[in-house]
Formats: sequence, C-alpha cells, structure tokens
Amino acid sequence: MTIAKLPERIVRLDELAHNLWWSWNEEARRLFRALDYPLWRITMHNPAQQLRRVSFDTLQAAATDPAFLKLYDSVMSTFDTEMSSSTNWVNTNYQSLLRSPIAYFSMEFAIHNSLPIYAGGLGILAGDICKESSELGLPMVAVGFMYPQGYFHQNIAPNGWQEEVYRRLDFDDAPIKQVLSPAGSKVVVNLQIGDFALAIGVWQVLVGRTTVYLLDTNLEQNPQSHRQLWSRLYIADRESRLQQEIILGIGGVRVLRALNINPAVWHANEGHTAFMMLERLREEVTKGASFAEALGRVQATTVFTTHTPVMAGHDVFTAELMVKYFSDFWKSLGIEREAFLQLGSQDGSPTQTFNMTAAALRMANQRCGVSQLHGKVTRQMWHSLWPEIPEDRVPISSITNGIHVPSWVAPELYHLFEGYLAKDWIKEHDDPQLWQRLDDISDEELWSVRRLLKLKLIAMLLEHNQDHWAHGRVTAEQVLTMGALLDDNALTIGFVRRFTEYKRPLLIFRDIERLKKIVKNLWYPVQIIFAGKSHPTDAQSKRLLQQVYSLAGDRDFQGRIVFVEDYDMHIARYLVQGVDVWLNTPRRRQEACGTSGMKASLNGVLHLSVPDGWWLEGYNGNNGWSIGGDLEPLNPEEEDEVDAESLYRLLEEEVVPLYYRRDRRGVPEGWIRLVREAIRSIVPVFCARRMLKEYTERLYQPAAQSSPVIDRR
Ligand SMILES: *Cc1c(COP(=O)(O)O)cnc(C)c1O
Repeated sequence: MTIAKLPERIVRLDELAHNLWWSWNEEARRLFRALDYPLWRITMHNPAQQLRRVSFDTLQAAATDPAFLKLYDSVMSTFDTEMSSSTNWVNTNYQSLLRSPIAYFSMEFAIHNSLPIYAGGLGILAGDICKESSELGLPMVAVGFMYPQGYFHQNIAPNGWQEEVYRRLDFDDAPIKQVLSPAGSKVVVNLQIGDFALAIGVWQVLVGRTTVYLLDTNLEQNPQSHRQLWSRLYIADRESRLQQEIILGIGGVRVLRALNINPAVWHANEGHTAFMMLERLREEVTKGASFAEALGRVQATTVFTTHTPVMAGHDVFTAELMVKYFSDFWKSLGIEREAFLQLGSQDGSPTQTFNMTAAALRMANQRCGVSQLHGKVTRQMWHSLWPEIPEDRVPISSITNGIHVPSWVAPELYHLFEGYLAKDWIKEHDDPQLWQRLDDISDEELWSVRRLLKLKLIAMLLEHNQDHWAHGRVTAEQVLTMGALLDDNALTIGFVRRFTEYKRPLLIFRDIERLKKIVKNLWYPVQIIFAGKSHPTDAQSKRLLQQVYSLAGDRDFQGRIVFVEDYDMHIARYLVQGVDVWLNTPRRRQEACGTSGMKASLNGVLHLSVPDGWWLEGYNGNNGWSIGGDLEPLNPEEEDEVDAESLYRLLEEEVVPLYYRRDRRGVPEGWIRLVREAIRSIVPVFCARRMLKEYTERLYQPAAQSSPVIDRR
C-alpha cells in the first residue's frame, strides 16, 4: 500500500492520528469519520491505518472542502490549546509536582483498539490513567511492552471451543513511532542480567500529553529465540515470564535513564513490575548508599497498586530461577543470597519462592488496593508481612478505580449532556453539583437515546455477523448463536467479562426452566448477550465458555441467548452503551474492583450485580440492583444458591416489570428514574479523575516530597 502524501492544508492529520488524544475528543473523532467513512469503519476507527490507505483524491477533496476544513481547524486549535495549556488541576494545586515526571510501569496498556497490547481490566485501568494524567496536567511517563502479536483474537469453533488466533501487528498501522536519539539514530538499550543479554528498542505512543514508552525486543541483533519470546502478553512458561518481567522492570528503568528522564515518583501497577524497584536499589548502592539507605530511598519514592485478591493469582518465581538470573545482581546490592530472597518472601521466613507482590510491598511505602473492600482483603492477605501490628493497621490503603469518562461515554449522551448540564460538562464531570441538572432532561429524551444506543449495538452485531457469514467463517447456526435474532424491543442483559470460574457465568443458568420462563415471556421478553475471552491455558474456563455457547445455541431459548466473539475495547464500547442491564455475578471478595459496570452506568445501563468490588460502595438502593446482599463468606454451594435465587427474584419481580411498565407515550418512567439516579450518583465518583486526584493527593505528593530529584532544586 502506498501512502498518499497529505496536502499541505491538512498536513497535521498525521500528527493528530499519532496522538491518541483524538480517541476521546468527540470533534476529532468526527473529523476522521468525515475524511473517509468506509475506511473509518473498515479500520475499526484507526486513523493511523486510515491515512495509509486513503486515496490521494479523497485527501485532495478534503483539503478543498470548506466544511471539512472548518472542522479540521477547530480540532487542531483545540488540540494545540489542550497540549500547551497551563491552566490545569496540577498546575493550580501541585506545582511542585511539575518539576519531574511520575513514571508508571505496567505489563499492559489499553489505550485504543488499534494498539492491541492489553488483555483486560488491568490494561484498561493503565490506559485510563495515562489519559486522565494528560487532562489533569500530571507529568506522567509510562513504560510497557510493544508486543508484536499482542493478546489473541478469539474464534469460537462450531462446537463452542475457543480458538486463539494471533495476528502479527503491522507497526505502521499502529499509532506508534520509533524513539530516536537527538542525533537521529534508533535508541537501543543493552541489558545484561547474569548470562541473559539482549538489546531493547523503544517505541512511543502519545496519549495527549502523556508519553508511553513501549519496549521492543524484536531487534535484528537479538538471537531469534529472544526475538519471538516476548511477542505475546502473559506467556505461561515461567522462565520466559521472568525474563519478560526483567526486561520491563530493569530494562524499563534503563530505557528511561537512556532518554535522560529522571522521575521523582515511580508507580508500579501490579506485582509484575516490581523489578523496577530492584534496579533503582542497585542504582542507589552504585552511587554509594548502603543497602539500608538505598531501600529507604526507593521505598519513599515508590507507589505500588495491587489488584489481586486471591493468593494463587500473584506472580511467584522459584528460588532456583531467581538464583539463576540474580546471583550477580544481589552482589551489586551488597547483600547475600538469603537477604535477597527474603525480599520476596510471603511471610518473612526463609523461602523457596519469590513473590513479586510481597517484594513490591516491601520496596514501596505508598501501597494500595483498588476498592475499599479490596483494601481490607489485601490487609488480611498480607498481614504476615507486618505480624507485629493489628490487621486493620496493616499499611495498605485503597483507592477505588474509576473510568476515563470521555473515552467511554456514548457520543449521543455526550451531546445531550452538552445541551443540559453545561457546554463544557466533560471538563467538570467529577463535580457532583453538575449532575443535579440531569433532572432537566426529559424522560422521553433520555429514553430515546437509550433506544438508539441499543439499535446501534444490534446493527453493529448484525454487520459483524454478515461479514463473517459472507467470508465463510461461520456456519448458519453460529450466525444465530451470535445474535442474528436479537430483538431491539426486548429487555437486553449483558454478561460481558473475562471467562473465569469466580465470575460465575453459569449462575444465571442454575435453574434452566425458570430462566426459560423469564426469557421466553411473550409479553415481556428478555435476551442475554454474553461475551468474553478465556485465558489460553485455562481449560476449565474454556469449558465454561463452551457450556454457555451451547446453551446459546439451544433452540428452546429462541435465539435470545447470544454469544459475541472476540471481546475487545471496540466491542466493549458498543456493549457498555447498548444493552439495558449490566450483569455481574462474582464470588464475593474475588472481584478486586471491576470497571465495566462503571462504563455501563455512565451510559445509563443499569447495574445488576453482587455487591463485590466497587459495587459495595457504589450501590445506593436506587441506582441499580444488588444481588444476594452483603453476605458473610459462605461456602460456594450456598453462595450460588442464595445468589441465583436472588437474581431470579430480582429479574421476575423488579427488573423486568420496571422495564415494561410504560406510560401513555411508551416511556418506562420508573426505569428512567433509575437511569438518571445511576448516572447522577456514579459518574462523579467512579471516574478516573476522582481516582487520579486521590493518587496525587494521598500518594504521589508525599512520595515526591521525599524525592532527591525534587529536593535538589
Ligand atoms: C472495562 C473492560 C474490562 C474490565 O472489566 P471488568 O469490570 O473488570 O470485567 C475488560 N476488558 C475490556 C475490553 C474492557 O473494556
């Protein structure tokens, strides 16, 4: 494909396409849509790819079209203002933080679908943090991986078995650029840990004002085995995984140093990134500090967020593997083998394993979980690290996650809010006062947007199905299983999340006959859309998925149970905006926070969930429904029984009747009352803006004050 040269008048389209700021700016999205609508759709909203494929004639026409140029000028002017503005929250409140960056390390980043370097919720959080930093004016730089193949695409075979398809990403189609030195050569950092040596290249992706540096090991100078090893996210092989985490943690610090970036605060997202702290210990000791002094400095300037409420979910390496890679490293820290391994001990006793979360908790003084309940569970789980103090005083706090509102709000609602809340509502969306004005929007208007969003979802699924059918990728039966019979008048429930046992995808099928009565009601039909991936090596969860898929194919459900393939950010946007109810049934205390329900609530989709994670804080009695209540831990069988009964009862007595109770104009007034209350009570609290302000006030600011990077000035 040749790349058409951009006409001078619109030459900055390329710059805009390579700053994902466009993805959360409504006007900028409209600009790329207007440039070439078919290409916008075919590329799944990827302007970098769009610009490579667009014809010269189309570009010429755009460059002389007054309407297009007006939009172009307006977008570029907003872009320039927002990229350079010094009137932002950090500048007003935390000027001292502006002197040095905050480094944010994460294994995955979900910024936009055109950059498939994420698997799920952890990546979404990281992406939303980068976007919100840009808006608040936090000087953040992020470090992650440029996986050539990323996470897998999901195909479901006719028998319901998940197949993983890995596609090599054409880097030219992604919104990334190679990082070059001032002299113009590619930046390459050489890493050697023990006998393990390789070269690391660096890409960057711009996310508004935030730069994300992505490490790349697929370089010619690396042995072939090394080049392929890190092509995918979350490889299962333990040694490869250890190497991957060495590259991210230790290589990541060295890459920042090579770029002359010297952060004041270092934030580790989940235990995978803990080696970043080890490398900084080594730096301090090399500069002359004792191990104890070095540890004190690293602890003081490090923030650590843990996400995993189940012990088995934490990253652990055998002592043998650690010794293989780190035996030179601990010498450079000036400590012995035992003291080194002790850093990763789960309870402080001599150990045969190195636990990355334990290590991170020991090397970071600012520690938090991701919801209030998760904070409590985490203090319980890691009490063994601080046996001398009572459990409720274990020094791990919590900051509840939030979503980046501009990225997840439907355009139709965005415009409705512009008209009724404030022209600039998006800039003040964390102000609870703003949302009182929701009452000014009439029931009909709110309802008609909700109806439209469901139509858009169903149209997207039909198009997807049509395409698969036309290309011979699916059988006729599969087309039905994947949503060909969806009915835009029926109450539509979404169960959309990673497939895994604790989320209990089969809970709603516990009493099949009772579910059939609910679904097949002639007057008040209900349909359920499932979507989600199983981890490639998790056979048990693949069997769960297969069961759901085969139930979806059961004629007796009349095509009202649907499974949508290949859940990703693109499909997520349609689903969180388009269904009526967002269903969530985790086993209690196993959902650290969850964020998809926040995206749904923002769009007026009502949350029907077990009160776990954020919902324990978010549910207020009038903004959705709570399944089963806040129970003390039960055995799993009892918990399933209680929750299934509660779920059926809620559907039969509350959710379905409320949805179908219409006034003379056909509007479900009672339903809309809940929709309004959900938006009003949830958006200003469970947004990334509130979350990042909390991180800044409670963790970044204290950490920055201990930083020599700042003190020196
Ligand atoms: C929001 C989101 C998630 C996280 O959702 P949970 O609430 O943790 O289930 C995962 N994947 C995608 C694609 C998302 O958009």
